[in-house]
Amino acid sequence: MTNSIPMSERETVLQVKGLKKHFPVHRGVLSRVVGQVYAVDGVSFTIRQGETLCLVGESGCGKSTVAKTVMRLLEPTAGTIEVNGVDISDLSESKLRAHRRQMQIVFQDPYSSLNPRLSAGAIVSEPLTNFDLATGAALAERIAELFERVGLRPEAAAKYPHEFSGGQRQRLGIARALAVNPSLIVADEPVSALDVSVQAQVLNLLIDLQEDLGLAYLFVSHDLGVVEHIGHRIAVMYLGRIVETADNADLFGTPLHPYTEALLAAAPLPDPTIKRERLILQGDVPSPVRPPPGCHFHTRCPYAVDRCRSETPPLAEVAPDHWVACHLRPVGGPFGPLSRTI
Ligand code: SF4
Repeated sequence: MTNSIPMSERETVLQVKGLKKHFPVHRGVLSRVVGQVYAVDGVSFTIRQGETLCLVGESGCGKSTVAKTVMRLLEPTAGTIEVNGVDISDLSESKLRAHRRQMQIVFQDPYSSLNPRLSAGAIVSEPLTNFDLATGAALAERIAELFERVGLRPEAAAKYPHEFSGGQRQRLGIARALAVNPSLIVADEPVSALDVSVQAQVLNLLIDLQEDLGLAYLFVSHDLGVVEHIGHRIAVMYLGRIVETADNADLFGTPLHPYTEALLAAAPLPDPTIKRERLILQGDVPSPVRPPPGCHFHTRCPYAVDRCRSETPPLAEVAPDHWVACHLRPVGGPFGPLSRTI
């Protein structure tokens, strides 16, 4: 449907600007606030109709917090979240309800995200009845249609979640998300709890649904293989900030941020005859309670110079539609290898 329209000309479904989510740290019997966890610290991105933006990064980088905050399952500390042109970042719960139909979430764990006491049919019908979208025969017909759409037999509506395999449960979660015809699906590590053989089937289902329905996906994953398979654009996060964003081919073909370079170097290669220079990161990810000043990555970056320790690099468009937050990547290049300082 949307495939014939160039991505840059498609409608914007989600626009996030300057999103922050800080969690207070409490201490003592009086539960005084003694600090903040800077989980998400000024994140901006756009997703268009029929586009998948993948947020990737190590555990604790803030990617799942972005997903939950975009859905308003967590309240943003600052920033705006526009869904189909409406800023939902500070809407009251009653006003937000009308917009919830446009944005649905698929969770990581299909085992715990489905109510075990409800039949599969009741799970998928819940959003339809909540939004008064169907009753009686029309409801039964819609449920059967959704089951078929995600590759489940309609008769399976009578079964309970424990009677399904992991992949089937995730298909059920996708059917529930699709029920209200959303324009945006936020998928938070949707295949990481599944066997590798089942992961590809669920990813391909998501791709087929996107092609047919023009869905926009915000897809959170720590797995670069998964991200490369499904993402049109990739945003790499480190300690609450996006450090690089580019389209799939550019990010995997020409990574420009040292952290992206290190992530790719650490990922297994499908072809063992290919040799890639290993950039091994030293040390652990610093605490988001006390992120390092300047570039958050400077404590682990082999190219860091003095300026990196005091000055935060802005996310700049260094090449067409390729954005990088690094002092050593000036707009327009050159984009050759960097010189190590350690
Ligand atoms: Fe490394 Fe400095 Fe670039 Fe940060 S700004 S990634 S510390 S070179």
